[in-house]
Amino acid sequence: MVWKPSEKEEEYFARMEFEKKKKQEEEKQKNLAEREKKKLKELHSMKCPKCGMELIEIDYQSIKIDKCSGCEGVWLDAGELETASRLEKTGLDKLFSVFKK
Ligand SMILES: [Zn+2]
Repeated sequence: MVWKPSEKEEEYFARMEFEKKKKQEEEKQKNLAEREKKKLKELHSMKCPKCGMELIEIDYQSIKIDKCSGCEGVWLDAGELETASRLEKTGLDKLFSVFKK
């Protein structure tokens, strides 16, 4: 795949931004007590990170996709984006057609 210079730059800055925010979050998490973490997990597990509604989990070719019942956002677990990106285009189309109305 050939990247145009501007795309590569955008990718670089997006990555830098992500790393920066990740570090900040890691610092915050270090300061959280274990029971605080447990509480947050219980509170947010299987809830949409955007609107807080319940997520519906769907299994598709070893990928577990969570779709929000409220805002229709679609969420992937760690590593699943890589798995999804390895799917053939037709596989991806099928995957998203699951959610089409
Ligand atoms: Zn939502």
